[in-house]
Amino acid sequence: MQRVAESDLQLREYVDTEADRIVATLFEWLRIPSISAHPDHAADVRKSAEFGAQLMREAGLEHVEILDTAGAPSAYGDHLHAGPDAPTALVYGHHDVQPVDPLDQWTSPPFEPVIVDGECRARGAIDDKGQVLYEIEAVRGLLQRNGKLPVNVKFLVEGEEEVGSPNFEDLLWREKGRLVCDVVVVSDTGMWSRSVPSICVGMRGLVAFDVTVRTATIDLHSGSFGGAVPNPAHLIAGLVADLHDDNGRVTLPGFYDDVRALTEDEQRSLAALPFDEEKWKRSAGVKRVDGEAGRSVLERTWTRPTCDVVGIDVGYSGEGMKTIVPAEGNVKITFRLVPDQQPAKVTEAFEAWLAGRIPEGVEYTIRPEGPGVAPALTPVDNPAVGALRRAIARVWDKDPLFTREGGSGPEEALGRVFQAPVLFLGVGLPGDRFHAPNERMVMDQFWKGLLAAGELWTELARG
Ligand SMILES: [Zn+2]
Repeated sequence: MQRVAESDLQLREYVDTEADRIVATLFEWLRIPSISAHPDHAADVRKSAEFGAQLMREAGLEHVEILDTAGAPSAYGDHLHAGPDAPTALVYGHHDVQPVDPLDQWTSPPFEPVIVDGECRARGAIDDKGQVLYEIEAVRGLLQRNGKLPVNVKFLVEGEEEVGSPNFEDLLWREKGRLVCDVVVVSDTGMWSRSVPSICVGMRGLVAFDVTVRTATIDLHSGSFGGAVPNPAHLIAGLVADLHDDNGRVTLPGFYDDVRALTEDEQRSLAALPFDEEKWKRSAGVKRVDGEAGRSVLERTWTRPTCDVVGIDVGYSGEGMKTIVPAEGNVKITFRLVPDQQPAKVTEAFEAWLAGRIPEGVEYTIRPEGPGVAPALTPVDNPAVGALRRAIARVWDKDPLFTREGGSGPEEALGRVFQAPVLFLGVGLPGDRFHAPNERMVMDQFWKGLLAAGELWTELARG
């Protein structure tokens, strides 16, 4: 791995001379309470989009525009002067933020940013305004220094990521001509720790089902009918018990058939991560780990598919006792998917599995929650990942390890719509309190993110 002294980083001087202005800009953006979940903040979300657009203009980006959707607006800007042979990168982030309650747990007001002990505390500091800002500033710095960029760059800064990006994919298809790219750079994630830089290369997919079973027209007296009529609580308990075998594996036929094995590079990287199981258990508030036998916690949460029952609602659960056989029950079941499982195929398998377990004479309905989200993976041997690896190694002075994300997000749609590899340049840390009171950005990570964003464009141009 090639190493460069920190002073050789292209944007080192820019960071030194512009730091005060950049922090003031960050504060100004963070003061806009762009909470997408609250309709009464719609004007703030728009103001935040316009603020982002203005930052892009000041940075030297062109064609800057607010892209309206059926929901909250995104901001767009580009710089397309690197020539047709240079790759085109689309930077993705979001400018909306999570709600702030419980307010009394904040040590300073969420929309009055402060820097304490080298941390910027405010809602949106790490998720995601801070991470969008260092990307924009990196472009500004390079244009100031060199008058040009080594790659063509487009920015798409979304306004409703925190409410599940309901209009995002529509926007991508609608604006596909404008947004088309060779590589996507997502700046909305994190790293293993300050001293263990890492690159996320994949996210899990998701399918979710709402199942209702109906055994009778009304609740029945358990003395008069119990023991001779079907009980939906028993039925649901049986279904739930049947979802996993004794080794914690999901029992849907063919469920694991499409799971792609980890490459040696990924296995090595996973094993090299300094994972502390005790600490992890404490962070989760659990006393034991559970799940698929023979797999580590990181495998179980990142690289293996899983099934979780998220809720059961059947019969009487109020105070005291009610002697009934309930007439109806409901269970909600989710599956997290990994490459190369496909939501449609898993949905079909689950529907068939369920149909085979509902006895004759029992009515049931199954409602999939939307079309599901496919899993996403950027192979670690993709040249674009190599470019990001070199950029991060140069700034953190350490070769980054590869991680994955157990959750699901709009990143999958970006990769699918543009058929492009998705890179995650994220500087968040496990203690950054994403979505929680006292959200923070460690400023040292912020500056490193800015420096790495600058290096990444050069590395990507090299191929
Ligand atoms: Zn985010």
